[in-house]
Amino acid sequence: MTTAGYNPYESAQLQFDKVAQTLELDSGMRALLRQPMKEFHFTIPVKMDDGSTKVFNAFRIRHNDARGPAKGGIRFHPQETVDTVRALSMWMTWKCAVVDVPLGGGKGGVICDPHNLSQAEQERLCRGYVRQLYTQLGPNQDVPAPDVMTNAQHMLWMLDEYEVITGGHFPGMITGKPVGMGGSLGRTEATGFGLVYVLNGYLRCIDKPIESTTVSFQGFGNVAEYAARMYTQMGGKVIAISCWNQADAKSYTFRKKDGCDITELVAIKDAFGSIDVAKAKALGYEILPGEEWLAQDVDILIPAALENQITPAVFPRISKQVKIICEAANGPTTPDCDPLIQERGIALLPDFLCNAGGVTCSYFEQVQCNLNYFWSMEEVLEKLEYKMTQAFRGIYDLAQAKNLYMRDAAYVIAVDRVVSAVKMRGWA
Ligand code: NAD
Repeated sequence: MTTAGYNPYESAQLQFDKVAQTLELDSGMRALLRQPMKEFHFTIPVKMDDGSTKVFNAFRIRHNDARGPAKGGIRFHPQETVDTVRALSMWMTWKCAVVDVPLGGGKGGVICDPHNLSQAEQERLCRGYVRQLYTQLGPNQDVPAPDVMTNAQHMLWMLDEYEVITGGHFPGMITGKPVGMGGSLGRTEATGFGLVYVLNGYLRCIDKPIESTTVSFQGFGNVAEYAARMYTQMGGKVIAISCWNQADAKSYTFRKKDGCDITELVAIKDAFGSIDVAKAKALGYEILPGEEWLAQDVDILIPAALENQITPAVFPRISKQVKIICEAANGPTTPDCDPLIQERGIALLPDFLCNAGGVTCSYFEQVQCNLNYFWSMEEVLEKLEYKMTQAFRGIYDLAQAKNLYMRDAAYVIAVDRVVSAVKMRGWA
């Protein structure tokens, strides 16, 4: 999934090179951290329902596990690329470090389109993935999770296959499991809520009440839905939401200037986060072209859909009213756009901080599985808010003290923690 000339792996490496320079890392450390430590490229033969065999290409990439077992999702996507998985595994390393959970970074992917696979074929694909890789997985080694087009059911099939092969119960081998089967309460909400904890932390620092702010979202999937719910519950106003429409393969922006009603929009969206255009129109929403989410007169933009959406080409369309970009998706801003954002004095809350609520809750899931004792929703959310707010505060304070862009401050903190672990282990 490489978008319009931007390769996410190159973006991730460029971002790393910049911080390596700031931290004056030596060449050995740079060489170690600017690429993954282990890559598995493999094929998965799957017996299809019609009796034929189809072979799927798959990856698991471990960027760095100096701070703990590698952690990261497995994506199912027809346009998956190894470079996307590499970039995402690298971002997972920084994400786990920035929120200070004892985990490293990994990511997986299978080139497939689950829309065209039956449930039974998806189950065989999940089990096949684990059969090819089980010696490299496990609670103390590498812990997958759901990601693009994978869900709790896929995770449970993978866990079951692992337990059948290894002969025991190892619920900490994978996260994002269904509640009642080793999953944690709050995991569904965690990424979106976590983002709002970070955003609100920043608004408090600049003495701007959340109730006085407005937002435009790109995306209305898992992350955006729960972020929008929490944000509006706290008094903020969502003016526009853009999402993909499967029916005509186009994106649309849904706008209500006096504020979108999130509950009513959730009621008319499908499982892939697409809002029904006709029903939204009937509810009084203006229907605008997909890219209009970016041009709204709002205080905050939340890109929560895809990578490479905020580029120098579209940057001039961003309203002068926008003072904050809160990155929910992974890599929504291209590196060449960061200087423009800085020049305009927009505060950028970086992706690997803002969307770290998911992995933080996955870590809580592992802890609960290890304890074999599960927390209430209140306990999970209280711990999540604490972790996210602490992480944000560290970044904000460093950015203020050293006059740094918040993405750079987050990188300095995260990379420095990984560098310390690598040094303490004597790897470099
Ligand atoms: P999702 O699949 O649930 O939703 C994606 C949303 O993006 C949908 O509403 C879809 O309609 C919309 N979309 C797709 N193409 C679009 C386009 N061209 N224009 C406008 N909208 C478009 O995904 P999600 O789980 O909400 O994840 C969103 C982003 O956050 C991804 O980058 C993902 O990697 C990242 N992320 C997710 C989690 C998590 O816990 N779910 C954690 C960390 C990061």
